[in-house]
Amino acid sequence: MQKGMLLVVSGPSGAGKGTICQEIRKRNPNLFYSISATTREKRVGEIEGVHYYFIDRAKFEQMISNKEFLEWADVYGNYYGTPKKPVFEALARGQDVILEIDIKGARQVKKSYPEGIFVFILPPSIAILEERLRKRGTDREEIIAKRMKMAREEIANCDWYDYLILNDDIDAAVKSLEAVIIAEKLRPKRV
Ligand code: 5GP
Repeated sequence: MQKGMLLVVSGPSGAGKGTICQEIRKRNPNLFYSISATTREKRVGEIEGVHYYFIDRAKFEQMISNKEFLEWADVYGNYYGTPKKPVFEALARGQDVILEIDIKGARQVKKSYPEGIFVFILPPSIAILEERLRKRGTDREEIIAKRMKMAREEIANCDWYDYLILNDDIDAAVKSLEAVIIAEKLRPKRV
C-alpha cells in the first residue's frame, strides 16, 4: 500500500495557519490531523484531546526520554511536541497527515523525515501580524512582544521550506495549500 504524505505547516503565530489548516481539514476529512502535547495553559474554548493534550512538564520530559515525540520544541517558554506513534500509524495506513508546528520542530522533522512536504505561511506584513495578535486578545503584552520577535526571526529563515504561501486572503491561501497537496500527489514516487 502507498504510504500517506506528511504535510508540515509552519508560520508565525497570527499568520493564520490555524485558520487555513482548519479549512483544509473541513475540505479533506480523510486528512489525519496530529494533536500535539503541550505544557502551556489551556486557553478559553480549548478542549483537551481536540486542540492539544495539555500535560505538565514532568510528563512531557518523561515522554522526551521515552522518545515518544517525532519532534518537540520549547516555544515561548512552553514545550510543544508531536506524538510519534499516531502519525506513523496513519502514514502506514496510507492516510495523509498534517502537522501544524513551529519552525524549530519543522527543522527536526525535515532531518528525520525528509520526504515530508514543508509549507510556510507568511503574514501579509509585520504590522498586520501584530494587529492580528492584538485582536485575538488571548495573549499578554510581553507575550505579544515575544511572538513578534520570533515572527521576524522565522520569516528571515523560511527559505528552506518547499512552499511559501502568503496569507493576504484566506480563501486564496487555502486554495494554494490545496494546490500543493494536489500537485504533490501527482509526483512520480522515486523510491
Ligand atoms: P499556540 O500556543 O498559539 O497554540 O502555539 C504556539 C506555537 O507552537 C505555534 O507556532 C504552533 O504551530 C506551535 N506548535 C503547536 N504544536 C506544536 C508541536 O507539536 N511542535 C512544535 N514544534 N510546535 C508546535
